[in-house]
Amino acid sequence: MSASELNGTLVASKLMTDTAQRVQLLRYSSGKQPCLATVLVGDDPASHTYVRMKANRCADVGIRSLRVELDAGTTTDELVDKLVEMSHDEGVDGILLQHPVPPHIDERAAFEAIAPHKDVDGVTGASFAGTALGFDGYESCTPSGILRLLDAYDIGIAGKHAVVVGRSPILGLPVGMLLLRRNATVTYCHSRTTELPEEVGRADIVVAAVGQPELIRGRWIKHGAVVIDAGYNPGNVGDVEYAAACARARWITPIPGGVGPMTIAVLLAQTADAAGAPAAESVLLGEQTVN
Ligand code: NAP
Repeated sequence: MSASELNGTLVASKLMTDTAQRVQLLRYSSGKQPCLATVLVGDDPASHTYVRMKANRCADVGIRSLRVELDAGTTTDELVDKLVEMSHDEGVDGILLQHPVPPHIDERAAFEAIAPHKDVDGVTGASFAGTALGFDGYESCTPSGILRLLDAYDIGIAGKHAVVVGRSPILGLPVGMLLLRRNATVTYCHSRTTELPEEVGRADIVVAAVGQPELIRGRWIKHGAVVIDAGYNPGNVGDVEYAAACARARWITPIPGGVGPMTIAVLLAQTADAAGAPAAESVLLGEQTVN
C-alpha cells in the first residue's frame, strides 16, 4: 500500500477563498474590515517569520493586520495589560499572542487576558471548555484544521480508534476533544506513556503532536490507518517517519503542505467570524444580491 496525501494546501486555499468572499461581503454590506492583532514578545526569528507570514495571509483575504511588538524584557503584568487593552479596543476583532513567549512570562496568564470573543486562536480556558463541551466559541486553530482536513476527504471518525500523541493545551488536548465529540474512541499518549509503539499500532487515526523528528516509526502504523502529522521540526521533518509510514497508511499528511496551511486558514476564518462576517451559505445569497 502507498498512502494518499491529505493535501492541506488545497483544502486551506478553498477555506481562504471562502473567507475572502465573506470578508468582501462584510465590507460591501457594512463598510467594516476585520482586524487581526498579533502580539509578539521578544526577538525570536522564527516567531517573527510566523507573524510576518500571518500578516501576508491576512492581506490575501482582505483582513487588516495590526502588529504589536513588545521587547524581550516585557513582564507578565505588562503583557496582560496590553492584551486587556486590546480586548477592549473596538477596532480589533481578533487577537493572537504568538507563542512561545519568553520563559519568564506566565503564558497561561497572558492567554487568559484575551477576551474569549476575540480569542480567534482558541487558546483561552473558555475556548477550550467550549471545544470540550461543544459550546459556541473559537476552536484552537490546528486541531480545528485537522478536523476540517479529515472532513474534506470524507474520512469517517465515529467509532474509529484515534491515538493522539501529545497533550499540549493548544494542540494534543483539544484535538482529542474534537475527535471524541465526533464519537472516536480516543487514547492520549505523552512523555510518560510506556508502550507508545503498541498504542500507535492500535490506531485507526494517529495524530502526532510532539515536536520530535520521526519519533513515530513507520513500522508502528497499522495497515490502512490515517496519519496526521502536526509536528514540525527543522528541515521540514515531521514527528512521523514519513516514507516508512506511507508504505502502511491509507492517508497521510505531507510536510510541508499538510496541517500547517490549515492552521492559518482557520485563524483567518475565525477572525472573519469574530468581525461578524456572514456564513458561507449567505455569501452565495449575498453575491446574488450584489450582482
Ligand atoms: P508541546 O507543548 O511541547 O507538547 C509536546 C507534547 O508531546 C507534550 O504533551 C509531551 O508530553 C509530548 N511528548 C514529548 N515527548 C514525548 C515522547 N517521547 N513520547 C510521547 N509524547 C511525548 O508542543 P506543541 O505546542 O503541542 O507542538 C507539538 C508539535 O506540533 C511541534 O512540532 C510544533 O511545532 C507543532 N505545531 C504545529 C502547528 C502547525 O500549524 N502545523 C501548530 C502548533 C504546533 P508531556 O505532556 O508528558 O510533556
